[in-house]
Amino acid sequence: MSPQDKSVSILLIYTGGTIGMIENQETGALEAFDFQHLQKRIPELKELGCHIVCEQFDPPMDSSDMGPDSWMKIVRLIAENYHAYDGFVILHGTDTMAFTASALSFMLENLDKPVILTGSQLPIGMLRTDGKENLITAIEIAAAKENGQPAVPEVCIFFENNLLRGNRTTKTSADNFKAFYSYNYPLLGQAGISIKYDRAAIYRPVSRRLLKPHYLLDRNVAILKLFPGIPPQVVESILHIPDLKGVVMETFGSGNAPSESWFINQVKEAVDRGIVVVNVTQCQAGNVEMHRYETGRRLLEAGVISGFDSTTECAVTKLMFLLGHGLSLPEIKEHLNCSLIGEVTIPSGLPR
Ligand code: ASP
Repeated sequence: MSPQDKSVSILLIYTGGTIGMIENQETGALEAFDFQHLQKRIPELKELGCHIVCEQFDPPMDSSDMGPDSWMKIVRLIAENYHAYDGFVILHGTDTMAFTASALSFMLENLDKPVILTGSQLPIGMLRTDGKENLITAIEIAAAKENGQPAVPEVCIFFENNLLRGNRTTKTSADNFKAFYSYNYPLLGQAGISIKYDRAAIYRPVSRRLLKPHYLLDRNVAILKLFPGIPPQVVESILHIPDLKGVVMETFGSGNAPSESWFINQVKEAVDRGIVVVNVTQCQAGNVEMHRYETGRRLLEAGVISGFDSTTECAVTKLMFLLGHGLSLPEIKEHLNCSLIGEVTIPSGLPR
């Protein structure tokens, strides 16, 4: 797009988080900002030249309180306004932004417009805020066109100059402005003097289809993070949570776990009860290869499914999504063994 193209419309959805807060001069407390006054607060937005409309969660939410209901609310807002806008920017708390981005990537099937999540470490009203930069550039990215088509037609996180695939991203810092990283997938773009896109890395729908919003999610999932010395009763109680249907197991290195028989038996017994167990690594980078070590191979034999190079955030939301659609176990396994929307790298050859 030319930045002055007034025919481009962006829907800005303010869900909450630090970005939208201002400091109350009297009390010093952070309070939610009224986004109706956004243009007044950030006059630079006018220079972008595009038509911006705001929708606001009322009340705005700290992202620690967000989950399937709020994701559905965002999906509904996007679906109901899909044809009226060229792109969508979601202002979101940083704490669980990677979960929301992952969930939206599955819930917005056939997406062919940009959905860019951003937020900030410092409120937009503060002098050193990173929020203004993040917001302005996120809008530019959501409005960007190349040959008349959206430049980035996928769910992304834009933060501190980096454009990242949403379902590949993790929050890595609680205080640095560079707070997000995608260890197993390249940046989709970088903002410097100009915004440079890595066209080869950006997902493009093969054919144009109608947006299919999904609202079915099953939250009967758990994360089981292994640690040396994990007591049998911890594993047992997690795997026996009533109504549990899926577990994301965070393992060591390339997908390894204790080889003691009590542990393998517990996991196998859970799999036999129909619980889907997905193996992701606790390492930030790299992937699960269960056949590589004996300690991993035992999990494979117990029926554990590889999460490949998935983030935990992505594995949890993918499980909620697949379980929510009432698929059979073989169907769920099949969907976990493939990339639905660029969320995992599937190696050629044997499934890991
Ligand atoms: N607690 C805030 C949230 O995630 C932090 C932030 O926005 O950065 O909503």
